[in-house]
Amino acid sequence: MNIYSLPAFTDNYIWALVEGTQCWVVDPGQAAPVERFLATHQLQLEGVLITHHHGDHTGGISELTKHRNLRVIGPDNPSITEITDTAREGDSFHLLGATFHTMAVPGHTLDHVAYQGEAGSRHVVFCGDTLFAGGCGRLFEGTPAQMWHSLNKIADLPDRTEVYAAHEYTTANLTFAAAVDPENAQLQARIADVAACRAHGIATLPSSIALEKATNPFLRAAKPALQHAAALASGERLSSDEAVFAALRAYKDRF
Ligand code: ZN
Ligand code: FE
Repeated sequence: MNIYSLPAFTDNYIWALVEGTQCWVVDPGQAAPVERFLATHQLQLEGVLITHHHGDHTGGISELTKHRNLRVIGPDNPSITEITDTAREGDSFHLLGATFHTMAVPGHTLDHVAYQGEAGSRHVVFCGDTLFAGGCGRLFEGTPAQMWHSLNKIADLPDRTEVYAAHEYTTANLTFAAAVDPENAQLQARIADVAACRAHGIATLPSSIALEKATNPFLRAAKPALQHAAALASGERLSSDEAVFAALRAYKDRF
């Protein structure tokens, strides 16, 4: 299976999964980039994966399904009317010769799911707006405790897992990361790598679970450096990793 990034809006990625002439897309907020990709590469769209209900992830579904009989796999949320297959925690499904598993990852929204699985020898996760490269989604609907739990579920995937997030927010995320984790040498190296990618217009995704655990402040709330930064930012003594996470997320919101 090959996986391609289709840029949408200003900073979204629609991920296209291709095997032979068959294609699935993840979070098509717009139809046009998908239609262009299908026409250019002469592919047949078979289905759609949806991570959560926000319009920048769902806005293209109705146009894509208008003249096609597609499977649309997505969360248990009746507001996404085109869904044909509801994906709940622990569900498995097959597409393009690969097996995927649904993980419930509430926090950014309450309906948010991620899809992880084996594609050939690769392990991949499509995590929408939950885990970003160097950051995490804002808490629009869920609590910090829910998001902390969801991020840890994703972080528990194998280190080599390729992380396909839905936005190119990496540069801004790493600027914040450097402010709260200033002595992290791997983070400094990543900032240089990402600057080089962006200078050439290259996507900074996929990332990997190993790289996120080493450099993403929202997965590092148990580390003394992050505990210190979170206590300074919040002016409070924080007694748990979850409280450190909550303070870091609140700090990022006003950073
Ligand atoms: Zn979202
Ligand atoms: Fe989004």
